[in-house]
Amino acid sequence: MASEASTGNGARIERQERLPARTEVDEVAPGIGRIQLPIMIPGLGHVNCYLLEDERGVALIDPGMPDPSTNQALVERLASIGIRPEQVHTVIVTHSHPDHFGGAGRLKVEHGCDVVAHRRFHTPFDPRDPLSPEADDLLELEAASDLISDGDAPDDLAAPRGRNERLERVLFGDGPIPEIPPQPTPWGEEGFRPGPGELEAMRAWDDLSKHGLLRLDPTIRVDDLDVIALGGREWQVLHTPGHTGDHICLLDPADGTFLSGDHVLPTITPHISGMTGSVDSLAEFVAALQRVSALSGVSKVLPAHGLPFDDLAGRVDDIIGHHVERLAEIERLGADLGDATVRQYSQRLFRERSWGPMAESETYAHLEHLRIDGRMSRRIDADGLARFRPSSG
Ligand SMILES: [Zn+2]
Ligand SMILES: [Zn+2]
Repeated sequence: MASEASTGNGARIERQERLPARTEVDEVAPGIGRIQLPIMIPGLGHVNCYLLEDERGVALIDPGMPDPSTNQALVERLASIGIRPEQVHTVIVTHSHPDHFGGAGRLKVEHGCDVVAHRRFHTPFDPRDPLSPEADDLLELEAASDLISDGDAPDDLAAPRGRNERLERVLFGDGPIPEIPPQPTPWGEEGFRPGPGELEAMRAWDDLSKHGLLRLDPTIRVDDLDVIALGGREWQVLHTPGHTGDHICLLDPADGTFLSGDHVLPTITPHISGMTGSVDSLAEFVAALQRVSALSGVSKVLPAHGLPFDDLAGRVDDIIGHHVERLAEIERLGADLGDATVRQYSQRLFRERSWGPMAESETYAHLEHLRIDGRMSRRIDADGLARFRPSSG
């Protein structure tokens, strides 16, 4: 997922990320295919699923949403180039958004492929806290159970807990669809929850799709600077938090091919979440942008949405510039608003059609960045809401 950029001058730019999914499979770099899959996320027209072929079969990067029609599109596009889904030996997931990880669970269950993701990979519907001390124990337990599993009982189908259990009841239950309570946020407002229409559509999915949305346990968890050999290339893993805490990019230093996921997109700025669990996700994001910008020899960027591009450093400059402008805009708003909630800032910062939890989450990330920088102060009022004002005001 990604949010639309504000151009700052009101100009409308044609966003490549909105283009509808092509049905053709294109070779976008030597030996790298691109399958475009449809998604139903506002502001986006497709997700790019990259395909790497080697002597073992194929690896896919980000196999799209978990719903049956996306899977059908994937199978058809693979068939158009003579590949059967059982030839998929590995799925790499760049981060924990459903348009990226969603299709992985089905491929894992149906074809026994490996699923590779960052060691902190954690879907929004998984009740386990990846930052809690016991999370590592859980991961170790899972690793142990994987070793003794015969492969017939996929661990994605294991009994869920907490929030997962609630969504599972909604998805799998009979009768009218009950309300899902909003996710609490650190700033006191209501967080994201699927709407009744979305829940209705998801309930019509088959069970594998529903499980694929709820939870995904990677078989291989990678960390920064690990190397994965796929498609006849040696990919270096770069942990690039900010858009999510578990985002990874992949670099082939041999020819400078860079799979950027949602970290760097060609014409929209990725959504920066205030819910990653990080103290300052904007600072983390900017640091991760500067890091990839400084990589030497990057010749081609293959993003998860939009078209390939060459100038990684130039695009990073634009994205950082956008956030610098946003920070200045928030300070100007603060001078006008005085003590104001995240929602109030957000509704001044974003156009009305973008209002909602995602805009608020991004606004919160910016406000917290300014607070940590000493430029804003925050207080939590009796109503539980955080209110921010400029430090000098
Ligand atoms: Zn995305
Ligand atoms: Zn995303």
